[in-house]
Amino acid sequence: MVSLKNLTYTELERFVLERGWQRYRAYQLAAWLYKHLPDSFDDFTNLPKGVRKWLGERFLLYSLEVVERQISTDGTQKFLFRTKDGNFVESVLIPDKDRLTLCISTQVGCRMGCRFCLTGNQGFKRNLSCAEIVDQILVVQKHIPERLTNIVIMGMGEPLDNYENTLKAISIITDPRCIALSYRKVTLSTVGLIPQLERLLAQGPKVTLSVSLNAPNPSKRAEIMPVERGYPIKRVISLLSRYCKRWRKPPTFEYVLLRGFNDSLEDAAELADLLKGIRCKINLIPFNPWEGSSFERPLEEDVLAFQEYLIERNFSVFVRKSRGRDILAACGQLRWKYQR
Ligand code: SF4
Repeated sequence: MVSLKNLTYTELERFVLERGWQRYRAYQLAAWLYKHLPDSFDDFTNLPKGVRKWLGERFLLYSLEVVERQISTDGTQKFLFRTKDGNFVESVLIPDKDRLTLCISTQVGCRMGCRFCLTGNQGFKRNLSCAEIVDQILVVQKHIPERLTNIVIMGMGEPLDNYENTLKAISIITDPRCIALSYRKVTLSTVGLIPQLERLLAQGPKVTLSVSLNAPNPSKRAEIMPVERGYPIKRVISLLSRYCKRWRKPPTFEYVLLRGFNDSLEDAAELADLLKGIRCKINLIPFNPWEGSSFERPLEEDVLAFQEYLIERNFSVFVRKSRGRDILAACGQLRWKYQR
């Protein structure tokens, strides 16, 4: 069975018209699929009974099932989903003041192989479909009373390595007739796959971009991020600096601090030189160790010194709070536990 959530709104309209139905049926279908979150096609009460039955016999309503939900003492929640073919993916719900952010995945595993990342160390299985990306949002929304305010595409997988499905999912997330979140509330994180990034910057939706940088020195970055060998961070930055003036929000650079590897003041100075003149935000993320990882969490004083140095060099720098440390919060940990 397939899912109607693999169709953007325009494709849903075409689907409806091809069946000889009135155009407004697409609007009704989208409202049920994305806003009312029903339990079955029988709930689509403004559609004729025959249409409901026809849909129910051919289409899946949800492509994911929750197999585990962990709730941290700080309010962070982790959802582990099973796909219809028995794979596992994770989403993380992060409440913060008036924001309720969901971090979603785009692939089962990842082929980027970042050394500090558990998902990257587990290899790649397959891309998620557009429906599987969107259903993480809808299934979590069904489990919570408050409305999600922000989506970050930063979970398992490299979103630009699953370009078509990720872009379709963003179209559904931001379409006022579907999930209806503003582009400003959607962030896409990438290691910097240059051909796809160029395509996104030239034609894609104006979501907030976040680039996983992690080491300013090319050979050091290549040691922890194999992507550096094909798509050097310097080229990614020059591409972004050409485009970012046209984009409403400046990009963010993510920097995972690894003790004794990339957390010194020399690294901070090199980072400041690399990003000099670029309107951007820097997020420092103290490494969250997982069993078997070859890196350690940085010392708190080193994190603060790193941040202060960059602030003195006039950058906007934030240290990401550690969330959900009492649950399996590192990306891929819960899936790993299940697969073992
Ligand atoms: S950090 Fe992101 S891109 Fe790198 S291996 Fe992990 S999931 Fe993939």
